[in-house]
Amino acid sequence: MSEGAVKKEERRKFQAIKGTRDLLPQETALWNRAEQTAHEVFATFGFGEIRVPIFEPTELFARAVGGETDIVSKEMYTFEDRDETSVSLRPEATASVCRAYIEHGMQQLPQPVKLYYMGPMFRRERPQKGRYRQFYQIGAEVLGGTDAPAIDAEVIEVVMTFFEKLELQGVQLSVNSIGCRECRPKYVELLRAELLKVKDSLGPDSQRRIDTNPLRVLDSKLESEQAIIAKLPRIGDHLCKECADHYAAVKRELDLRGVKYRENWRLVRGLDYYMRTTFEITAQGLGSQDAVCGGGRYDGLVELLGGPPTKGLGFAIGEDRLILSLQESGKAPVAQGRDVYIAWMGESARATAIRAAKTLRNAGFGVELPPVEQKFGKALGQADKLGAKYALILGDNEVTSGEWTLKTLVDGTQRKVTEQQLIADLKKL
Ligand code: ATP
Ligand code: MG
Repeated sequence: MSEGAVKKEERRKFQAIKGTRDLLPQETALWNRAEQTAHEVFATFGFGEIRVPIFEPTELFARAVGGETDIVSKEMYTFEDRDETSVSLRPEATASVCRAYIEHGMQQLPQPVKLYYMGPMFRRERPQKGRYRQFYQIGAEVLGGTDAPAIDAEVIEVVMTFFEKLELQGVQLSVNSIGCRECRPKYVELLRAELLKVKDSLGPDSQRRIDTNPLRVLDSKLESEQAIIAKLPRIGDHLCKECADHYAAVKRELDLRGVKYRENWRLVRGLDYYMRTTFEITAQGLGSQDAVCGGGRYDGLVELLGGPPTKGLGFAIGEDRLILSLQESGKAPVAQGRDVYIAWMGESARATAIRAAKTLRNAGFGVELPPVEQKFGKALGQADKLGAKYALILGDNEVTSGEWTLKTLVDGTQRKVTEQQLIADLKKL
């Protein structure tokens, strides 16, 4: 390589890969608050946290999510590991949680097992507002036990409680039932037959889906298809008795919990494993990507992955969109400034400053201790820029007299404090 080429190589500026991004401190404060609230709310409903790997055998997702889905057929980050097994970055976590349930014999535990998770997911989608290639989900799963409708309602109640605690604005819950292995296939055939009759007036995506996944046609946002879709047969009219009863009971249970919902017969989930209850929650300020949570029942999934027949239900919240909506409605907390800036000068003040910083930090105050000596004027300017509330001024005079100077930066008032009083005085302020 020529010297010029090396130089050019050195000068290369790196950027985050398309669809991924850095979250900087101003934003992570809100992310942390959301996650902390999730930990608290989920715990009050008896959920325990599970952390599953970020990559799994490709086959796990192919089997669980479904090979025909967009996620598996074109959105996964798949690569060959050195031992030539195919692995994929997780596009979602339900498959992993079910795998873990089986792997750790959790069916031996008191049922149902309630688990929640949070972390990054990866899908190679077209990046846009609210849609990233590395995005974050907070989700929960209830595995085992019965399929009592109260469980469906409680799972929905967990999310709604979480959103309420965060004061998320414009929350709208939509629910639907998409039937079971008995009734859904018959409905899908009926739907397919009806769709074939109107095929020519549908767009290319929907035309393709008549074959691969007719239910997804109902999802279409295409303006030209809306009038056609409105006339299609509705699954609610074709549920078997058990599914119809279950759906009615879920709605009663939601009423009992004071959870407001809308019914949306066109709500079908993108993943193959869903059955019966499906739900979606939207929030304001998100434009067209306004779904902040999707969930539903998936009774067959654990068995499909080689486990015993197991009831299952869960949801995933899109954390990026949740944060975006909170930011749009002005719910972002102010970036945390320092509490105390220690302005010190002189070698003897240096030791005192280090000691004061330790005491303050142990008491929980945020402290900035400049690493090198600065003139007091410059130090105070720096304290202002950092948004510190107080400056603790330590010079030769202060150290000899034992009377320290504490300056309140908003109004410039000063007071004398002793080392012993410092913490108590700050707390009083
Ligand atoms: P969408 O219809 O918006 O693509 P989805 O049906 O693919 O959503 P799920 O797989 O059910 O979504 O995931 C649950 C939630 O995760 C979504 O409601 C959304 O908030 C979030 N989500 C999904 N994909 C992305 C992404 N690429 N970027 C950011 N958030 C996402
Ligand atoms: Mg999607």
